[in-house]
Amino acid sequence: MDNVRFMDQLQRGCEALGVSVGEDVGPRLQRLMGELLKWNAKVNLTAITAPEEVLEKHFLDSLAVLPEVEGATSLLDLGAGAGFPGLPLKLARPALAVTLVDAVGKKVGFLKAAIAVLGLKEARGLHLRAEGGPEREGIPRAEVLIARAFMDLPDWLALAPAYVQPGGRVVAMLGKAQPESELTARATERGLRVVSSRQYRLPFSGAERQVAVFSQA
Ligand code: SAM
Repeated sequence: MDNVRFMDQLQRGCEALGVSVGEDVGPRLQRLMGELLKWNAKVNLTAITAPEEVLEKHFLDSLAVLPEVEGATSLLDLGAGAGFPGLPLKLARPALAVTLVDAVGKKVGFLKAAIAVLGLKEARGLHLRAEGGPEREGIPRAEVLIARAFMDLPDWLALAPAYVQPGGRVVAMLGKAQPESELTARATERGLRVVSSRQYRLPFSGAERQVAVFSQA
């Protein structure tokens, strides 16, 4: 995928998703893709390896939730894997302090390498298994907690509130859309409320996604 095509697809994808990123973000995402594919040839980080698919299913899907994190100063990505959604969100919004947590050492090795190669400030990878005790685990509470493809919704809503600052938000990126009634029921069980939820489609494949935001009731 050459530079011109990458930039064109990124711009068209962002427009379709209704999000905007600075001009410097494209080259930095390309650098991230280069690093991801280089590492992935040696250690298994992601099953998505075609550049067009990395752009759409990792980068654009991560950027799609920019509206849900807008205005926050700190973001915690639990079960970040190879850095999604946290790394593209950090590239798009450099002022956001980002902590990326994963239980698998080789993934955190990649996260640390990517942070160094991209020269990201206020970004760090932590090799930890999150089990609900942020102080004990050394995980800082964040204004916005996010995860993609991490746990099913009931388990996520049971674990997540412990990692959020008072008044903060819990963002769930859901592959399979859940009806509003289900979101509300799961939230209520945990003393939470649904702040927002919306469905979107990835711009080229048309794959369906949903993102929901929760806060303390
Ligand atoms: N969020 C990334 C994405 O969407 O591409 C990765 C998703 S992957 C399916 C789930 C990740 O969560 C894995 O990298 C796994 O190591 C990590 N994980 C699972 N349980 C965890 C826990 N309790 N604490 C930290 N990481 C965990």
